[in-house]
Amino acid sequence: MDWAWNPCTGCKHGCDYCWAKKMADRYKRSFEPAFHPDRLDQPFNTKKPGVVFVCNTGDIFSPGTRKAWREKIKAAADRAPWHTYLWLTKNPQYDDSWVRPNWWLGATITGPEDAWKREVMEGENIWYSFEPLFGFVEDEHLYDAKQVVIGRATNYKSGWAEAWALNVSLYYLSQNVPILSK
Ligand code: SF4
Repeated sequence: MDWAWNPCTGCKHGCDYCWAKKMADRYKRSFEPAFHPDRLDQPFNTKKPGVVFVCNTGDIFSPGTRKAWREKIKAAADRAPWHTYLWLTKNPQYDDSWVRPNWWLGATITGPEDAWKREVMEGENIWYSFEPLFGFVEDEHLYDAKQVVIGRATNYKSGWAEAWALNVSLYYLSQNVPILSK
């Protein structure tokens, strides 16, 4: 990732390990989902091609976000196609209107209960973030991906087992999928 673009911030998923929520609390900022149209031109105004992580201080599919926000964010990304965009959500609602050669659609998998997410991921450039893991994910719940991230949540120690991460790592190593270990 070269830089983060946050035209949408905040989230109502309420994960107790949330780094973005902790930062919002520290600086006494609201963590309610919010749209920032003044940031929409940032990709277009950044002429150097980069890998752009979209909305790392919130979740674009959180309750309280709006489809109209997402459509404007997508249009803004389309205006600057020289970048590669990394999208990530706990609640993937991607459909074929999200598929672009330079967009990587991601979902967070924290345990076997997230198996449903496979069904709503579309396109070729699919990636998963196994960070943090809260349970053992069986091989049949591990899905094709172009890349995966595996790691422990920052400052969050409980619920972690090296074996969970090892199993995921071995699976994707056997599939020749690049792994970013954090
Ligand atoms: S989904 Fe992401 S942004 Fe939302 S509370 Fe959980 S960790 Fe934070």
